[in-house]
Amino acid sequence: METRERRKKHDGMDIRRRHFLGLGGVVLGSAQPALVASIGAASLTTEGRAARLGLTLEGPLSWEWRALAEPPRLVLSLPGVTWRGPARLGSAGPVASALFDDEAKELRLNLARPALPRRLPGPAGRLLVEIAPASTEAFSAAARRDMPVAQGSAPALPLVVIDPGHGGYDPGAIGRRGTEEKRLTLAAAQVLRRKLQEGGKCRVAMTRERDEFISLADRVAFARTRDAALLISLHADSAPGAKGASVYTLAETASDPLAAALAQRENNADLAGGLSLPSVPPEVQAILLSLMRQETLGDSARFARVAVRELTRAVPILPKPRREAAFIVLKAPEVPSVLVEMGFLSDPEDEAALRQPEHRALIAASLARAVEAWLGATQRATSG
Ligand SMILES: [Zn+2]
Repeated sequence: METRERRKKHDGMDIRRRHFLGLGGVVLGSAQPALVASIGAASLTTEGRAARLGLTLEGPLSWEWRALAEPPRLVLSLPGVTWRGPARLGSAGPVASALFDDEAKELRLNLARPALPRRLPGPAGRLLVEIAPASTEAFSAAARRDMPVAQGSAPALPLVVIDPGHGGYDPGAIGRRGTEEKRLTLAAAQVLRRKLQEGGKCRVAMTRERDEFISLADRVAFARTRDAALLISLHADSAPGAKGASVYTLAETASDPLAAALAQRENNADLAGGLSLPSVPPEVQAILLSLMRQETLGDSARFARVAVRELTRAVPILPKPRREAAFIVLKAPEVPSVLVEMGFLSDPEDEAALRQPEHRALIAASLARAVEAWLGATQRATSG
């Protein structure tokens, strides 16, 4: 539980939500695996006379370096980590070879000549370490000391799940010029992902990265099993007379006929839809869900407000741009979720605009600003 303790310090928002899950652990526990520290990618490159180790961190992680003599090597301990990088990283600079030992949870660097590690400044979520040549005396002294030569830790960055609507045999709406919604949503999602990654305030995952069908329940499960801080579902549907961008949150009763019709159409796109929960007495399930949902809906609504504010500054907006309806994809009880209609493919001007990469970039930039503002506000609200 060491990682959980550490996490508590950095991620109050999530712990609060887990509190509710603890209450209903029997019911919902299976959908909530603990977030484990993991390395998503690893690289070793040559930088002048040194080597540079780059690790992408997923989940909170602590590490320490030790120097060992005869033969000279550096060992990076990553307790409890799940390593998704390559087991062997090759050679670079003073590093002759690098191997990750999954049993010991250690990255072992065999040195061609004495070298010591030094952490470099880098974006959140990345651990950059320079392995620079050192004198034989300095290395021997470090190896003789029975203590780490460097150590540190990093909190988990919150995960934002981007959900490009439709895909595969479900094209979504189709505009008069033949524009398919599923292609626009994927294109916009890719730009949004890049902008969020550049911002360095969160990790990003996408429910689909190519033209494939994913059920609504699987999209919801994707965000839940990854312990997402936010789910943003991107769409550009068809609705007669509607024009401009709008943002939707979950409500069993729709805010207006347009929102109701959109939700019905979206939900029908997924014949296997519906969020299935394990069988418990319905009244217990209802209480647990409403407890969690109240909080989640509040967070969703706060994000929707910020998103509308940012979109309004950048692109044309639907009158009354913040609406509610019973979209299945928004039904994760513990993941704040919004559905963004970037515009409507049934409107020729919206279709023309959405076909333009520049227009999609404006939408993505607005949403990225909204995500960062919302994450900042949520973290301030839950720290201390
Ligand atoms: Zn759609």
